[in-house]
Amino acid sequence: MARGESRKRKPGTPDYRKRFWAAVTAIVVAAGSIGVSHAGFTLPNQAQKQVQMAAAETEPAEQTAKKQVPNAAKQSLELEDAQGIQEADAAAVADQSELESDKTTASGFRSVDETVYATENLLNVRSGCGTEYEIVTQLNQGDSVQRVGIGDGWSEVLYKDKSCFIRSEYLTTTEPGSEEATVTAQGAEADAQGAPVSNGCIVAIDAGHQAKGNPDKEPVGPGSSTMKAKVASGTEGISTKLPEYELTLSVSKKLKRILEERGYQVVMIRESNDVNLSNAERAEIANKSGASIFVRIHGNSLDNTTVNGTLSMCQTASNPYNGGLHAASYSLSKKITDSVCAATGFKNRGVQETDSMSGINWCKIPVSIVEMGFMSNPEEDQKMARDDYQELIAGGIANGIDAYYQ
Ligand SMILES: [Zn+2]
Repeated sequence: MARGESRKRKPGTPDYRKRFWAAVTAIVVAAGSIGVSHAGFTLPNQAQKQVQMAAAETEPAEQTAKKQVPNAAKQSLELEDAQGIQEADAAAVADQSELESDKTTASGFRSVDETVYATENLLNVRSGCGTEYEIVTQLNQGDSVQRVGIGDGWSEVLYKDKSCFIRSEYLTTTEPGSEEATVTAQGAEADAQGAPVSNGCIVAIDAGHQAKGNPDKEPVGPGSSTMKAKVASGTEGISTKLPEYELTLSVSKKLKRILEERGYQVVMIRESNDVNLSNAERAEIANKSGASIFVRIHGNSLDNTTVNGTLSMCQTASNPYNGGLHAASYSLSKKITDSVCAATGFKNRGVQETDSMSGINWCKIPVSIVEMGFMSNPEEDQKMARDDYQELIAGGIANGIDAYYQ
């Protein structure tokens, strides 16, 4: 019995409901296995894991945990995994007692019938009570739903006459705008002093490249017959010899910290150099993460060592895959470039529009490639390798993101 399944069973549930849930579970399981493959290729295990992690991190439960304790979300995921292993071991040696405890956790849901309101924007409504279940829809703050059950940290609600599940801590029975709600909101704001208040924006960050490039080919865009290397090995500092993949990850981690301090939720496509993720796969992870923008961090290189400065890239308005995202991507790109140059004093080389980048073409959300500076220019290479300059660059990118959302 899947743990998730046992949780949503309620005592006294009529038989037809059991059969309904068995059918829903089968559909959700089938949908889940389809969900990781797309447009003719399947994500490698690594990517699947990251998709799952990214999805889990968009869940408001982890969002709040991260606000209060850095990495708390990750820790809780790891704890859950460890618990899973322990349970499997226990089942192997004491199958009967495992069944007993399964029965105990199954009685988690208590029937209620009340109207509840979302306390956060982009609140996930899922097909089952667990972050592994499909997101059916999202609620915004103040949206109301009918709650029919409470248990195990989750509320069972009716959405379009179907049972769905929402984390209980993001629901309130207090109607928005009432006197009581105002007092509660003020209290919450006071409690949050010192800790960042969520601004409701989710940003996906991709630290460009990885320790080893992958020359295998993939379509340059969905359905395209034009093929391109999955991920290039990147460049290195002409003077420092710092690999581009290390520079991009170092700045990306700083950017993550700064954005989180400002109330953003951040989805990192990679946090290690030892990954194998193609540019299309990175875009797909961002697409599925719940993020509203995708920022790709790179270092530039040219044969001419005198060329320096910051630029960013986005698609053209006539891009066949996502030209409709051009205006937003251009705005994001321009604001980031301007802010990085203001912060670092680097030369502003503006926004380049191109439809040759797989990681842009596969994207379904506004996207920008930030070429922070030229690693082929000795002076800029040396600056970018410094911790203080990386802080300036990351702060500049964060300022650009702030400006984009304003
Ligand atoms: Zn690059």
